[in-house]
Amino acid sequence: MNKALLEIAYLIASITFVFGLKLMGNPKSARKGNLIAAGGMTVAILGTLIFHDQPVSPVIYAVILAAIALGTVGGWLTAKKVAMTKMPELVSLFNGMGGACAALISIIEYPNLKEQPGALIAVLAGLVIGTVSFTGSMVAFAKLNGSLNKAIRLPSYNIINTAMMLVVIGLAAMMVISGSFNTSMMLYVLLALAAVYGILFVIPIGGADMPVVISLLNSFTGLAAASGGFLYDNKAMLTGGILVGSAGTLLTIVMCEAMNRPLSNVIFGAFGGGSGGGSGASEGGTVKDIQVSDLAVLMNYSRKVVIVPGYGLAVAQAQHVIHEIELLLESRGVEVKYAIHPVAGRMPGHMNVLLAESNVEYDKLVEMEDINPEFATTDVVLIVGANDVVNPAAKTDPSSPIYGMPILEVEQASHVIVNKRSMNAGYAGIDNPLFYSTKTSMLFGDAKSALTALANELKSL
Ligand code: NDP
Repeated sequence: MNKALLEIAYLIASITFVFGLKLMGNPKSARKGNLIAAGGMTVAILGTLIFHDQPVSPVIYAVILAAIALGTVGGWLTAKKVAMTKMPELVSLFNGMGGACAALISIIEYPNLKEQPGALIAVLAGLVIGTVSFTGSMVAFAKLNGSLNKAIRLPSYNIINTAMMLVVIGLAAMMVISGSFNTSMMLYVLLALAAVYGILFVIPIGGADMPVVISLLNSFTGLAAASGGFLYDNKAMLTGGILVGSAGTLLTIVMCEAMNRPLSNVIFGAFGGGSGGGSGASEGGTVKDIQVSDLAVLMNYSRKVVIVPGYGLAVAQAQHVIHEIELLLESRGVEVKYAIHPVAGRMPGHMNVLLAESNVEYDKLVEMEDINPEFATTDVVLIVGANDVVNPAAKTDPSSPIYGMPILEVEQASHVIVNKRSMNAGYAGIDNPLFYSTKTSMLFGDAKSALTALANELKSL
């Protein structure tokens, strides 16, 4: 009876995961999707605690409940407090914890299952994939928060990494095939090698490619969790793991397509100079700037304005004032849209989430493929804290590290206004020829202050 109830709990959880993920496909329903999936996970956890068929001492129950309470409070507080711009770091940290859990399950279950080749494959897969995901995610976290912002590349690192990967796979295979290798000592050697491989795998990858790496590591964690699902014949864990694995893989592919670079180039190409953030200054050419009062007049008498939000808008927390400008312009009969580049900001969907916070209507957010043909009929493009996603070098300079990445073709518009604080480079650390174009005027200053001044000028017209 209990077994049947447990299976029903897992079935409910699995259904909510699939349904929740579907709802997460749209910003309007994403929050609901997340809650539904979290509800399903709660059902699975409660089901396990209530309907399990193993004798469990009260002490173990207390430990489990304490761990759940600690994780819930820690996760809740961190997620509540974290700034939107720090979200990729949080995702890499949480993802690393998932990988570590899968690896710990394998370490605990190894002595019990090492004589069963089928189960041993799942144990070792969970150990290796989970550990790689854990150490790789920690390196990605350090790169994103800037504490590891130097490029660390061993000579011939691609060869070393490939050799290391083959050693890890080879040792795991030997442990399954040969009894003499299948010892606890070997398990810890495998664990150490996988940990080192995770570090070596991520460390040479450039800062600008971290979101792709995190998404890839996320899919690894999913696979590691799915191995746990096999071990325990736990359908909720299996479904959850497979969903995370496949969603992570799809997101990785989508992001690579958005940058027009194959995954092999992301992993082996060392793009982005290892920088955790754009610190290099732009150089060359002269720029002209524009005063807020002139810009207000220009926009006020435009027919169509397209706003390009980027990372700087998020840093400055200028999403509310940009929405105010949008409403002011619309009240004067100006058509206003937002151009959304798939990797603008620091995480997929960053701009959508940011602008949703200030209640910008979803249909005003236009994806890159749809807005690009519209720039030719746009009077003013207002770029706020974006840089790489509007860099024409991606189209014109084959030697540029971002060559081939699709960009927002803003230079087709009649006037291009760029708001940023200085001539510093963006995330990829490279110069942007757009700033020196005759069509471009720079509005220097922090996005929130500059846009607040612009809103005030518009109100006074
Ligand atoms: P960029 O990082 O290219 O440029 C942001 C610009 O914002 C900087 O040049 C900076 O210039 C300016 N800025 C910073 N703070 C402020 C502020 N307070 N007010 C005004 N401007 C400010 O951002 P983009 O959005 O154009 O491009 C995203 C980049 O990040 C791409 O290279 C992408 O590959 C990468 N990336 C994307 C992720 C994703 O999934 N979306 C995740 C991680 C990286 P200044 O200092 O002069 O003000």
